[in-house]
Amino acid sequence: MASPGADIDGDALGVGVDLTLDPCPCGGTLRPHRFECEEYDATSLLGVPVILAGRFMGNRCDKGGETTLPGKLHDVLTERVGLLQMPLAP
Ligand SMILES: [Zn+2]
Repeated sequence: MASPGADIDGDALGVGVDLTLDPCPCGGTLRPHRFECEEYDATSLLGVPVILAGRFMGNRCDKGGETTLPGKLHDVLTERVGLLQMPLAP
């Protein structure tokens, strides 16, 4: 792998996500949003360079338009990225 980050295909995650309507700090409401063939920069969420692409469900604020990933998807991504960064056995 040339880069320390990862490009993850959202279609392949297969995560059943429970979506709820949560309040956004800006005063809006985070509503379910389907990301399709977009590039979502999850670097700030995961702490390593990760671009998420494909189709996956997330949330988008109905007031400010900011987007987030549901906690369960965040957990799966954290696990996948952790596995990618494990050194191979000598
Ligand atoms: Zn908002």
